[in-house]
Amino acid sequence: MKKMQIDIIAVVPELLDSPFGHSIVKRAKEKGKVDINIVSLREYGIGAYKKIDDESYGGGAGMVLMCEPLAKCIEDLKSKTCYDEIIYLSPDGNKYEQKEANRLSMASALLLICGHYKGIDERIREKYISCEISIGDYVLTGGELASIVMVDSIVRLLPGVLNDETSALTDTFQDGLVAPPVYTRPASFEGMEVPEVLRSGNVKKINEWQEEMSLKRTKEKRPDLLK
Ligand code: SAM
Repeated sequence: MKKMQIDIIAVVPELLDSPFGHSIVKRAKEKGKVDINIVSLREYGIGAYKKIDDESYGGGAGMVLMCEPLAKCIEDLKSKTCYDEIIYLSPDGNKYEQKEANRLSMASALLLICGHYKGIDERIREKYISCEISIGDYVLTGGELASIVMVDSIVRLLPGVLNDETSALTDTFQDGLVAPPVYTRPASFEGMEVPEVLRSGNVKKINEWQEEMSLKRTKEKRPDLLK
């Protein structure tokens, strides 16, 4: 499979250094499964002060990310890469769910745009954005943290990234249910025992128990998934 390209336009690129420099995302980069290119919007800013934001038309508190730096930056990136999706992270976007992570993990190239302050000029949304995503019904200071959530959830699905590829397939949401409980050694901890069936070595019985527990947990914790 071809290496996935993820470009991220950020106002505070430093926020992305650590999350992409550790754990699964780091391993995916080292294995050549993904290239993550973080672009500072400031590099496309206007004038000596590299201005990227201005006051909002109509007044009101908060600055808005201007059209020109964003357009210049997006055009520059588009001249080098053909994107499957140009995504704006926004609290009013489509709610991000596992099925969207699955879909995006099949892409060859993604461009993620992180807003800041009051957001980006509406005309950029109209002209360039193919998909708007919210990671939940709350407002973050900038899209950088949302992009970290998205990138992590996508990259762990790329073939060859996790040591055991079936692991991602048995996670919560993948089959419309929550995952069953998991245990590790010791078999007995402060009087609490690991269920006998998990120690039986009987794969058929273990699978049946896990399916049963998945369904039970889904009914208890997320009955909405069963509708
Ligand atoms: N004025 C905007 C509104 O009310 O919809 C909120 C702007 S927010 C302070 C700044 C930026 O953070 C947004 O442009 C977006 O990129 C990002 N952001 C905030 N909350 C988000 C969320 N729930 N999901 C994805 N991105 C979010």
